Amino acid sequence: MEQIRILLVDDEEHIRLLFKEELEEEGYSIGLASNGFEALEMLKVGEFDLVVLDIKMPGMDGIQTLNEIKKVNKEQRVILCSAYGEFKQDFSSWVSDAYVVKSADMRELKDTIKNVLGV
Ligand SMILES: [Mg+2]
Repeated sequence: MEQIRILLVDDEEHIRLLFKEELEEEGYSIGLASNGFEALEMLKVGEFDLVVLDIKMPGMDGIQTLNEIKKVNKEQRVILCSAYGEFKQDFSSWVSDAYVVKSADMRELKDTIKNVLGV
């Protein structure tokens, strides 16, 4: 069985490592990027079934990164992720597949990943 590949994009190292560990336990193969530019480069050279994208990042934020990703490949599945609940109100205007508020409890993210992937 081929592993599902997820690209995790977050400027905070501890979040990248926590999410990586938790999602690898679920059987996913994880790629890591620490900013939007790096994420776009990684998507050029490799295919990912899903991108989990932090919103608040220096340089290019998650919304800008999302728009760039969709310009290149509008089929790319993307989940936006943020510690800030207030972003949820703007979700309808975004072209991401889902939005998750970051939490120490990873259940919502894991469930959302399954929903978006249809597994
Ligand atoms: Mg951040």
